[in-house]
Amino acid sequence: IMHVIPISCLTDNYAYIINDDVSKKVGVVDPSEASPIISYLKKQNLKLDYILNTHHHYDHIGGNIELKKLYNAKVIGFVGDKHRIPGIDITLEDNVKWIFGKSSVKILHIPGHTLGHICFFFENEKIAFTGDTLFSLGCGRIFEGDHQQMLTSLNKMKKLPKNTKIYCGHEYSYKNAEFCMKYDNDNIDLKKKFEKIKQLRSNNLPTLPTTLEEELKSNIFLRCNQNDLKVKLNMKNQEDYKVFRKVRDLKDSF
Ligand code: ZN
Ligand code: FE
Repeated sequence: IMHVIPISCLTDNYAYIINDDVSKKVGVVDPSEASPIISYLKKQNLKLDYILNTHHHYDHIGGNIELKKLYNAKVIGFVGDKHRIPGIDITLEDNVKWIFGKSSVKILHIPGHTLGHICFFFENEKIAFTGDTLFSLGCGRIFEGDHQQMLTSLNKMKKLPKNTKIYCGHEYSYKNAEFCMKYDNDNIDLKKKFEKIKQLRSNNLPTLPTTLEEELKSNIFLRCNQNDLKVKLNMKNQEDYKVFRKVRDLKDSF
């Protein structure tokens, strides 16, 4: 069984320790900083084999070098970002499969937030690490790509199996829910999701993982192709990417 353990880093980042108790392989996804990872590994008496990076931002790679030195772990990232992922050892291309222990991990290139952003999709376990591209009830800011690129990337995520567990890079769910509620307030699934998020956050628990199924129903950024949302935004019959651009702009100033 594959265990995924969220580790709070910096202010609102999550790194995820992945621990397969069959193959005994251990990895960490997006270590913002080394110390919280090291203390967890020590407590559990674990080593570290791999460091997986979804993209090059400092709040996702900050712990790479220290962890690599300490554990002799291999750093995995997108080939196009090999010049800006510290310590990278294994470079992966879009659509290739990489093996973690006994798990097959499909690499999905999902540019928009950054040009080299990828998702790690564990095919059998149906676990996706989506970094800063798909959040619960949100999506990442568009720093390097354009809106069409980001929308294409989100559409790629939408094609994963519905029961995929989504682990993203930040605890933004509460704020994202408030934004979704502002423009989609009669969405019953969204209301339910918001209640769940309130409950978890009031107990200081992570709201992740979310599932693709819940996101498809409640995440306004995944609903930009749907007529009921277009009507709510006074954008009936407009192209999906224009609706998406509008929603992204509204969120940027929310
Ligand atoms: Zn980022
Ligand atoms: Fe980030």
